[in-house]
Amino acid sequence: MLRSTYAIVHLDAIDDNIRLARSRIRPDTKLLAVIKANAYGHGLVAVGTHLDKNPDVAMFGVALCEEGVSLREHGVQKPILILGVTDDAHFDAVVQNELTPAVFSPEHVYALAAACRRTGKSASAHLKIDTGMHRIGVIDEQMLSDVLDAFDACPMVTLSGIFTHFAKSENDPAFTALQAERFDRAVALTKARGYSPIVHAANSGAILGQTDYSYDMVRLGIAMYGCHPDGVSTRESGLKPAMSLVTHISNLKKLPAGEGISYGQKFVTVRDTVVATLPIGYGDGYKRCLTGKTDVLIGGKRCPQIGTICMDQLMVDVTDMPDAAIGDEAILLGTQGDEMILADDLADLCGTISYEILLSISERVPRIYP
Ligand SMILES: *Cc1c(COP(=O)(O)O)cnc(C)c1O
Repeated sequence: MLRSTYAIVHLDAIDDNIRLARSRIRPDTKLLAVIKANAYGHGLVAVGTHLDKNPDVAMFGVALCEEGVSLREHGVQKPILILGVTDDAHFDAVVQNELTPAVFSPEHVYALAAACRRTGKSASAHLKIDTGMHRIGVIDEQMLSDVLDAFDACPMVTLSGIFTHFAKSENDPAFTALQAERFDRAVALTKARGYSPIVHAANSGAILGQTDYSYDMVRLGIAMYGCHPDGVSTRESGLKPAMSLVTHISNLKKLPAGEGISYGQKFVTVRDTVVATLPIGYGDGYKRCLTGKTDVLIGGKRCPQIGTICMDQLMVDVTDMPDAAIGDEAILLGTQGDEMILADDLADLCGTISYEILLSISERVPRIYP
């Protein structure tokens, strides 16, 4: 029993976006697919199990240990890197599930080694270098040397990767170059200590940018789901939006001029108006801050959203669509006829980024994988 509101996830669009990303990096460079936060709202397990079979994907990136464990429970085989900080309490699960944590302090390495001893299994880790994002990572050469000492002392823990994260790769080539320079120095020092980790830095912004930051591997996130990280270039990028948000008209009525609509009655009709009700609201992650700013596609045309967006429903002006009928499809995100609404468009209207729009689509919206 499917409700009439759902998100269609186009796995073939994700594959196409991966191919596009591949065409922009060196052929021998590996690709890590970032599927943290429920695969940016597209479904962690569905996207993970799909991409486990895609030969263009070498590794997965998640934010949390729990996300990695969930992938393993559903049979995902490829290596999984935990991009964020792993809690000490989770290191046993990391080792048991063959997850690869990001580490950047001697304490992390020792905690991982202790989990190896407890579980009787070896582990590998990627070393995170802070080159300017100032979120997590090794911050200077002393700290780098201390962490490498810890790796030297813990033979059950392999240093299998080294990486950094760009703060402005989608719009600041100079700062990105500075970050890369700092990163190159940390990589050189690490290699001089006898380690040969795989080296990776590029996120979507760097993959789509002009300068080659391929290194040994890239980390593809938002572009895999069809959005350009700069928020304005998606239409020209050749990327294919992977999610459509669909609902159907649940009620239709004709109102005279002067009638207020929805909570607060802030929108008042100025003419005879045909109002359609749609069974979707901010409880589904269709943000209330879009109230009165956005359109919905019905019958291939843009129909203005009117009245405050409610938790479970919202209203649309369909006066100019005389054929509109209960049950008609309405597209909130995606393509209908010649019209297209992008996550970037909605993000722009409520002062956020496409990432947050996609991630906001809530759990009660079923994901469909055609
Ligand atoms: C989220 C994340 C990415 C992916 O970034 P996009 O901008 O979505 O491509 C890459 N690396 C790290 C460390 C991240 O946290």
